[in-house]
Amino acid sequence: MRRALDRLANETFDLLIIGGGVTGACVARDASLRGLKVALIEKNDFAGATSAHNSKLVHGGLRYLRNFEFGLVRESLKERRIWQRIAPHLVHPLPFLVPIYGGGLRARATLRAGLTLYDLLSFDKGWLDDPAQRLPNHSWLNRNEALAAEPVMDRPGLEGALQYYDAQMYSPERLALECLIEADENGAAIANYVSGGKLLKRDERVEGCEARDDETGQVFDVRARATLIAAGPWADIFLEQTLGRSSAHKLMRSKGIHLLVPAITRKAALTIAAEGSHFFILPWHGHTLVGTTDTAFKNSPDDLGVSEKDISDFLAFINQNLPAAKLMRESVEYFYAGLRPLVDDGSGDTYGASRRAELVDHGKDDGLDGLFSAIGGKWTTSRDLAQSVVDAIVEKLAVSVADCETDEEPTAGGDIGRVADFLSAQRKEHTDLPTIEHLAHMYGARLPEMLAQADNRPELRQPIGGAGDIAAQIVFAVREEMALRLSDVVMRRTCMGQIGAPSKDALDSASRIMARELGWSEERRSREISELAPWFLTREAA
Ligand SMILES: Cc1cc2nc3c(=O)[nH]c(=O)nc-3n(C[C@H](O)[C@H](O)[C@H](O)COP(=O)(O)OP(=O)(O)OC[C@H]3O[C@@H](n4cnc5c(N)ncnc54)[C@H](O)[C@@H]3O)c2cc1C
Repeated sequence: MRRALDRLANETFDLLIIGGGVTGACVARDASLRGLKVALIEKNDFAGATSAHNSKLVHGGLRYLRNFEFGLVRESLKERRIWQRIAPHLVHPLPFLVPIYGGGLRARATLRAGLTLYDLLSFDKGWLDDPAQRLPNHSWLNRNEALAAEPVMDRPGLEGALQYYDAQMYSPERLALECLIEADENGAAIANYVSGGKLLKRDERVEGCEARDDETGQVFDVRARATLIAAGPWADIFLEQTLGRSSAHKLMRSKGIHLLVPAITRKAALTIAAEGSHFFILPWHGHTLVGTTDTAFKNSPDDLGVSEKDISDFLAFINQNLPAAKLMRESVEYFYAGLRPLVDDGSGDTYGASRRAELVDHGKDDGLDGLFSAIGGKWTTSRDLAQSVVDAIVEKLAVSVADCETDEEPTAGGDIGRVADFLSAQRKEHTDLPTIEHLAHMYGARLPEMLAQADNRPELRQPIGGAGDIAAQIVFAVREEMALRLSDVVMRRTCMGQIGAPSKDALDSASRIMARELGWSEERRSREISELAPWFLTREAA
């Protein structure tokens, strides 16, 4: 996959997508698989915003049952199974425990009723070829069983725990990237570090947008018969800036932070109910990810950050509701914030707001024919949202295309058969690579292609950073996965920066490999290293 700047500037596309988060990536995958001529531009790196900074769950959304959002839960559960099937290396089952403290039979019965409904709505959760991907129904663990499973739930009043299953992503960044790789293989013209600007309008028809390449400063027009704004939390702001007037469709932005701490559970995730909200304790790459908060965010999405107060408030809340965790500021190895782009229902209540997605046809609503926005939604339902978006665009363009195949077609690395067999074959073949399982999850069927970078350079099979990555991934990221900056490699193409700041040595080695591939000067190499520092620093709220 290479930056397709010439094509973007010189061809006319059926569809231009502005934004390379999971929404844009899924639309690009779907539209290109159906035979449309697709362009996608992303102002930073792919999946570098909301699509990276979330709870990494592919889930039905148990709590939405409380709002009677049965349709959304069913859709999410259906999509959960589809992701498990099309990307089995990156999406795996995760057991959850919900501890019950002192609520008595009534609390237990209410939750059980919800979980029974959740089981019923996911009636197809066993319809997967790989038995290891099939999710069981919920069950009850008495106090002793619950504590034996996860001692951190210990607290006076513990009666037991309900166990249910959802799924977790190994790397949301790579899953979104795989969708883009597939789109690229199907002819899409894609580039990161290209921002969309003024819309190109003829009469009241939108015919693409002005674009600026951040690498060179070059400005050019991208022409398309239909344009989709898939800019996540920037969507309404982008639209208003380019229209110069307000649009009927507004977003509420809700900030959610996550903290990475040393592992506090053995195997299961925990869902902890707390004062009208909840948080998750999630096993993640040998650590625990705790998330998330939910607070209205009024500033520009570009100013998002995590403050020391965010961390101390959240730690206090966690310790109050899960005292055995005994988390301290020193326990926090890494943190991040994401912004939920929620459809504004006028309530101002971000926790209660629906996570449903909305497709806006600005031809109908703002008199701008050929312009669409995809807003709101969840990672889990992004494939389904993309299908509706492409259906609407195909109808608008009045073209005949192939049927949608994204629910059957494996993602770029997804064609691996049964996960356990795939992992075992890789372990046998690569006995010199102690972290081969990690690599197998990261690349799936593309693993041989990545490892081939080290064919005549055995030094590239050496580990880099502390998260199981090897040097060959960096070469592969630059040559085949459009990594342009050190942050692309450290934060998204590999897991080097995902469990806390990598060591100086690791950054030095990674940047030297990139410098050799991209011809960086020594000055550029040091700048790339210093530009990574803010990822690991707190900042006070703007
Ligand atoms: C705290 C939190 C926890 C969550 N947990 C989960 C979860 O566990 N499971 C789940 O299913 N969902 C979860 N979500 C929701 C999910 O992450 C989002 O629905 C999803 O990532 C949205 O993707 P997107 O592509 O629409 O937005 P984004 O990922 O934000 O992508 C939009 C992209 O547009 C780009 N862009 C903006 N302006 C321009 C421009 N002018 N030109 C070019 N590009 C531009 C941005 O740089 C960005 O990369 C969570 C969200 C948050 C915030």
